[in-house]
Amino acid sequence: MINNNYVKNVYDSLCCKYSHEKEFLQAVQEVLETLEPVVEKDPQIEKLGILERMVEPERMITFRVSWVDDSGKVQVNTGYRCQFNSAIGPYKGGLRFHPSVNQSVIKFLGFEQTFKNSLTGLAMGGGKGGSDFDPKGKSDMEVMRFCQSYMNELYRHIGQFTDVPAGDIGVGKREVGYMYGQYKRLANEFTGVFTGKPVEFGGSLARTEATGYGLCYFTEKMLKTLKNTTFDDKKVVISGSGNVAIYAAQKAIQLGAKVVAMSDSSGYIYHKFGIDLDVIKEIKEVKRGRIKEYLNYYKNAEYVENCRDIWTVPCDIALPCATQNELDENGAKALVANGCIAVAEGANMPSTPEAVEVFLNSDILYAPGKASNAGGVATSGLEMSQNSLRLAWSFDEVDMRLKDIMENIFDTVYQTSKKYSDGKNLVAGANIAGFVKVCEAMKQQGVAY
Ligand code: NDP
Repeated sequence: MINNNYVKNVYDSLCCKYSHEKEFLQAVQEVLETLEPVVEKDPQIEKLGILERMVEPERMITFRVSWVDDSGKVQVNTGYRCQFNSAIGPYKGGLRFHPSVNQSVIKFLGFEQTFKNSLTGLAMGGGKGGSDFDPKGKSDMEVMRFCQSYMNELYRHIGQFTDVPAGDIGVGKREVGYMYGQYKRLANEFTGVFTGKPVEFGGSLARTEATGYGLCYFTEKMLKTLKNTTFDDKKVVISGSGNVAIYAAQKAIQLGAKVVAMSDSSGYIYHKFGIDLDVIKEIKEVKRGRIKEYLNYYKNAEYVENCRDIWTVPCDIALPCATQNELDENGAKALVANGCIAVAEGANMPSTPEAVEVFLNSDILYAPGKASNAGGVATSGLEMSQNSLRLAWSFDEVDMRLKDIMENIFDTVYQTSKKYSDGKNLVAGANIAGFVKVCEAMKQQGVAY
């Protein structure tokens, strides 16, 4: 609920203008609701139209991506890049290739990214992009042709000091490699214009692991600070089995936990003795297969053909690492009823507003994605630094910096939450801490007439 008149007017106008963009409006509403105490303290925010400017992307690029499939047929997809906010640095944020991608999804992700990047303490603005292209079931050559065609348009809008994309759902090292190769051909330069690159041409060690590892570093710090406990001996449920989920599972296991359930968009597996992550990696990273195939390796595991039901599996810690709105009110209630003590988001906006409400009204610790999954972009920032320095740091050095950044993010979010509310509402803490820095930069840079 928004009470402040100025904040309400900004949100209502946005609803009229973009009534069909439900994910975007959801993300904006969640942020605006928590900013009221800051807006009330600082009249300059209204006077300078900061919120109106904050909710409108600086630039939204939409383009046709045509490519030829293996049978010789011409296919057409839509490409997007949303350059949301460059107040504190060049636009930075991943590219998502998934059939569900549309303007609303890309704008919500770009909006969230602005606050997340601010929280990392690094000089990165917010952006996001992608396409409704589905890499699933496509041959390597089809993926290559699509990526090249996508880059034929995108290359003119990006650059190491302008906009630096990376991966997201459906975009891993293979796709980044093809896009980077095409950028290099078109721009005739070898610069750090992409992050998440393979290490052979400028990628950072530990970038692959960064979002999942970072999520666990944040969660461990939250558990220690607010519940005086750790991952050790805890039962963990993780949704998804992609990049974020796999490396969150790896770090949770390293920290002494047992991961008992993981999923993909078809269903979830439950293995009460603890999931064998090497098998998941083999199925998902090598074979690009379905999680159901885990049963071919472990007959005593169970498969349920409904990924949303994963939250009914009893656990101590839940890490949603798949996609937006994957954890609804019923899922949240099931977690609370089963005694879960912490939910930390690896995905962007995985919990619906109703689920967040359930968490905030319970004793569960709840870490919002824009804080707890910031390790990926933070390490992308470290990749940019290494590219600029023409240096490559060791895995341990990057990992140490990542851990440090995630613990700092927790401290900032927690302290901000204590300043503006009860210290438990980390959603407010993350939104306000992320907002304040961008807001100050926007004030100092003036309004363009
Ligand atoms: P991947 O493409 O590597 O994996 C995505 C996983 O989520 C897959 O297991 C996929 O299953 C599952 N999934 C996708 N859509 C749905 C759906 N509608 N319902 C249930 N499961 C689904 O992506 P990432 O691991 O990179 O990203 C996961 C989340 O983390 C996203 O929200 C992303 O924005 C966020 N994130 C990623 C970062 C990164 O560094 N990669 C950084 C910060 C946030 P299937 O194979 O069946 O599609």
